[in-house]
Amino acid sequence: MRLKNCVKINEKTTLIPQESMISFNFNTCNSYLIKINPNEFAIIDPGISKKQLKEALKINKVDVSDLKYIYLTHSHSDHLALIDYLKSVNPEIRTLIHSFEVNFIESVKDYFNLLFDLSLLQQNQKYRDFLAAIQFNITKDPKIKVNKSLQMIFDIWNIKPRTIDKRFEDGDHLEGDLRVIHVPGHSPGMCFFLDESNNTLFSSDIHLSRLGANISGNLTNVSDLKDSIIFAKELVKKKDIHMILSGHGTNPITDNLIIRLKQFYSSILRKENQILTLLKQNGKLSLTQITNITFKKNKERFQKYLVNQPFFQDSIIIAEASELISNRNLLRELERLKKIKSVEQNSELWWILKK
Ligand SMILES: [Zn+2]
Repeated sequence: MRLKNCVKINEKTTLIPQESMISFNFNTCNSYLIKINPNEFAIIDPGISKKQLKEALKINKVDVSDLKYIYLTHSHSDHLALIDYLKSVNPEIRTLIHSFEVNFIESVKDYFNLLFDLSLLQQNQKYRDFLAAIQFNITKDPKIKVNKSLQMIFDIWNIKPRTIDKRFEDGDHLEGDLRVIHVPGHSPGMCFFLDESNNTLFSSDIHLSRLGANISGNLTNVSDLKDSIIFAKELVKKKDIHMILSGHGTNPITDNLIIRLKQFYSSILRKENQILTLLKQNGKLSLTQITNITFKKNKERFQKYLVNQPFFQDSIIIAEASELISNRNLLRELERLKKIKSVEQNSELWWILKK
C-alpha cells in the first residue's frame, strides 16, 4: 500500500512519503523529519517532492528556518533532489554525507560513474553529447551545446553538482542522538542512522520491501551488500532495535525484523542460484543471454519507465538502454560469483561454471 500523507512515527520522528519520478523500482521514497532539539530539526534524505515536504513542515508547525541539517544516507538522486530547494529557502542548513559519497554529489561525472560504466558508453558515438555534458558538469559553458532532450533528463532527475558542508564517518555521532553506521554495498558510502534514544534504525536502501535487494549502480558491490545485511541482522539483535524506517516502501517496519532481513538477504542468494542453474543447464551463456532470462521482469519494468523519459525516446533506443543497464546490474552479480570462484569466463568471454 502506498502512503500518501505524512505519518507521525513518534514524538521525534515524522515520515514524509514522497512521490518519486526518478526511481523506477519504487513509486515512493521516504524522507524523515527529526526533532533534534526543542526548536531544531534535521531531515534525513529530503527526497524529491517539494509539495509533500512543505505539507509535512506545515503539519508539524516547523518553519524552514528551524531546519538545521540534511543528513544523507547516500548520494542517489531520488533521496536528495530537494537539497537545492531547502538551501534556497534556508541558506544556513548544512548538508552531511559519508566521506565516500562526497564526490558523487559534488561532481556530475562521478555521479554518472556511480550509475553507469562510462567507459562502456564512451565506445558508442550515440552517447557523445551525454558524455560531454557530464564531463563539464553541465555548466553553462556556451561552447558545450547540451541538446534539449538531454537537458531535460538532467532536469527531471534533478542532477547537478552540489556542495557538501560536512562529511561523516562510521561511528560518528550526529545531533539528534543519531549514530552513523557505514553499510557499503548498495552504494560505496551508504549509511544507516541509529537513533540511540529510541532504538530505531533508518535503513535507507536496505529497504526490506518484497522487491528484494536491488543492484542499482555501476559501483554497487554485491559482496559488501550481503555483508551489510548480515551486519544489520546482528545490529538489530545487539541493540534491541524494534523499528526500522527504510528509504522506500511502506513504513514503519515493526514486526519480524530479523526474518525480514533474512528474506531480503535470500533475494540475493536466489538470484545467484538462478544464474548458476542457468549456466549448468546451458553450458555457456553471454551476459545478454543471462540478462534476458534473470532480469526479464526488471528489464521490462525499466523499459516501461524509459518510455516515459523524453531523453531516451529521442536519443537512445529504449531497448538498448535498458539492456545496457540490466547487463551492468547482472555483471555486478557475476563479478561476485567469479570472486568466490563459482563462475568464470572462457577464452571467448562466455560465462561458464568454474570447473
Ligand atoms: Zn539508492
